[in-house]
Amino acid sequence: MDVPFLSLKAVNARHAEELKAAAARVIDSGWYVLGDEVAAFEHEFAAWCGVRYAIGVGNGMDALALMLRGYMELGRLAEGDEVIVPGNTFIASFLAISANRLVPVPVEPDPASFNLDPGCVEAAIGPRTRAIMAVHLYGRLADMPALRELADRYGLLLIEDAAQAHGAALGNCRAGALGDAAGFSFFPAKNLGALGDAGAVTTDDDALAHCVRALRNYGSEVKYRHCLRGTNSRLDEMQAALLRVKLKYADDDTRLRREVARRYLAAIRHPGIALPLVGQEEAHAWHLFVLRCRHRDALQRHLLACGVQTQVHYPVPPHRQPAYAGLLDVHLPLAERLHKEVLSLPMGPTLTDADVAHVIAAVNAFRSPA
Ligand SMILES: *Cc1c(COP(=O)(O)O)cnc(C)c1O
Repeated sequence: MDVPFLSLKAVNARHAEELKAAAARVIDSGWYVLGDEVAAFEHEFAAWCGVRYAIGVGNGMDALALMLRGYMELGRLAEGDEVIVPGNTFIASFLAISANRLVPVPVEPDPASFNLDPGCVEAAIGPRTRAIMAVHLYGRLADMPALRELADRYGLLLIEDAAQAHGAALGNCRAGALGDAAGFSFFPAKNLGALGDAGAVTTDDDALAHCVRALRNYGSEVKYRHCLRGTNSRLDEMQAALLRVKLKYADDDTRLRREVARRYLAAIRHPGIALPLVGQEEAHAWHLFVLRCRHRDALQRHLLACGVQTQVHYPVPPHRQPAYAGLLDVHLPLAERLHKEVLSLPMGPTLTDADVAHVIAAVNAFRSPA
């Protein structure tokens, strides 16, 4: 393979010495769960996002699920309440809702931005709607001002699935600080990736922060005193120490991703390919560079033959998965079409100029089938 989709080995090799030193520090400390590293990372990540609280949890899916569970404990959500969610997202957004016996209500995206269309959101608001989950898909911020206005007008919670959008910003406000609460993933391939599973909830809400802090640790903030029937989903000291290293370089990495995107956008020219919408530069963290092509599968085969590895995010929308057979009568033609047309080009902070040039040449050389 000339250009891999994403080489995690290359991503982490850049910081190998620092990562090994951080790991050694944890090994030598003799303290491995909920200690100084987690507290320090939570503090640093909250400051980086511009919120008062970050609570480290086991993964991104748990971040979303525990945040929703927190709102249930606080009486802001109840079983059977509806949460509006984009129809075109990774299934974890849906699963976090269902895990709490809340009801995901998928809506059509805006085809240009791939994100929630506020008009479709408003049309989906009904008597049981209590929350909107905005997913900043592919790293591009959803239209948060419009969604905030809707949330305020209808008295709904506005939640961010920020798993793909670390560092994306609206003015000087970053993902994680744009809603009432946000869930982040630090899965290794995310823009800020651990070397294993990890996640965090961010919020300015005192009560929610305390609740999630307890929920992740058997419902206890004070040892052997259990106020809630919580679970075990803690960020561990090792991942926190490694994430503290990676966080120092997160802004540099975003700049590198933007540069790759800028070059793709400037040089890919093909009548059969629609490039992603740019919008405001800071509003996109370019987790993925996703183009659309009606001959997507042929394009993917062509690129593979040229030594360019691509991926599809995602081949089947959640409401068409067997796990959501109950949503079979939901029809989202736009979301369903996007899943047939999207293709993600190699994207990451370690792509070389030669890699990018090779991808561009390969895409431009594609001959659409008649
Ligand atoms: C990765 C991802 C998640 C889940 O994160 P994990 O850490 O893998 O559990 C949730 N939502 C979106 C949009 C994601 O991309």
